Amino acid sequence: MGAPGVLTVSLGAIVANWRFLGGVQPGQAVAAVMKADAYGLGAEAIAPALRDAGCAHFFVAHKAEGLALREVLGPGPMIAVLNGFSPDLGCDIWPVLNSLADVRAWAGLGRPALLQLDTGMARLGLPPAEQRQLAGEPGLLAGIDLRYVMTHMACADEPAHPLNAIQRDRFVAAVFPGVKRSLAASSAMFLGAGFASDLARPGAALYGLNPTPGHKNPMQPVVTLEAPIVQLREITAGTPVGYGATWVAKRDSRIATVAAGYADGYLRSLSGQGWAMLAGVRVPLVGRVSMDLLTFDVTDAPRPNPGDRVVLIGQGVSADDLGLSAGTIGYEMLTGLGPRYRRVWVA
Ligand SMILES: *Cc1c(COP(=O)(O)O)cnc(C)c1O
Repeated sequence: MGAPGVLTVSLGAIVANWRFLGGVQPGQAVAAVMKADAYGLGAEAIAPALRDAGCAHFFVAHKAEGLALREVLGPGPMIAVLNGFSPDLGCDIWPVLNSLADVRAWAGLGRPALLQLDTGMARLGLPPAEQRQLAGEPGLLAGIDLRYVMTHMACADEPAHPLNAIQRDRFVAAVFPGVKRSLAASSAMFLGAGFASDLARPGAALYGLNPTPGHKNPMQPVVTLEAPIVQLREITAGTPVGYGATWVAKRDSRIATVAAGYADGYLRSLSGQGWAMLAGVRVPLVGRVSMDLLTFDVTDAPRPNPGDRVVLIGQGVSADDLGLSAGTIGYEMLTGLGPRYRRVWVA
């Protein structure tokens, strides 16, 4: 049984965001990163919309995600598996080779692959020593149909961070003649022409998250999350609300109890921090977030009826801002939105 909350995803806004990103650096192709079920928003609905708009490159994290995506997309578009190298990947799903061991396992098959270099994040990709080894053994790559060399940036959401230029320069210094290159994810796409490459790999920005934190979000909003009020009550000043009685009404108040909770990805750390929109009015979350319920002080909003919906994410409540209030990022808010919501995709 699903929770009664409704998560509405605008496919039109995702496609518009993809097109907009295509204009950020002229000549740069733009892929779509679809890992974690398109950041929790539904790869099965989103991928065909992007394909029909002209997107020809898709990235996923795991092999199983790649296989599922191929079912949905049909033949044609590139599907690359970022971190799930296995030597039995089919011909139509390309691995990202992340180590010399991956390269050796793929060598001689003559099949397409991408190669990831670690240029300063120490997470995935060939570390510097292996890059030097590979340069000394050029024959290794001869048996691989190498389509892209890529790297991933650690600090692109902080434009002034010195590691941005360092990683870029290391990437440029790695020579793979005739092979296309892929550098930027969402935020790095906005760092200027020096960070352009043959193929950008945005995820977050497609889904409406702000790739330029601290500046106005250039992306269109994609997600609306609404949940119904299941009960309303009038309380007098001095009445506590929720587990732990952490919030006590300072005035006579109207409390709306809403059918969503931390089991639905509405993080418990939003207790005393979150807010929602009710009929265009910002209403504060009061008391603790429960597993399936939230309590909002709606005293200052027009009197609602049970069954009316509050907006948990959408106009007036961005996933980025909510993430910040929860001590995390919009990415985690989106990918954490649980399976109980009814998901609706609108054109
Ligand atoms: C997740 C990921 C991306 C997309 O990052 P966003 O910040 O969501 O645009 C791109 N490349 C790699 C290697 C990733 O892991």
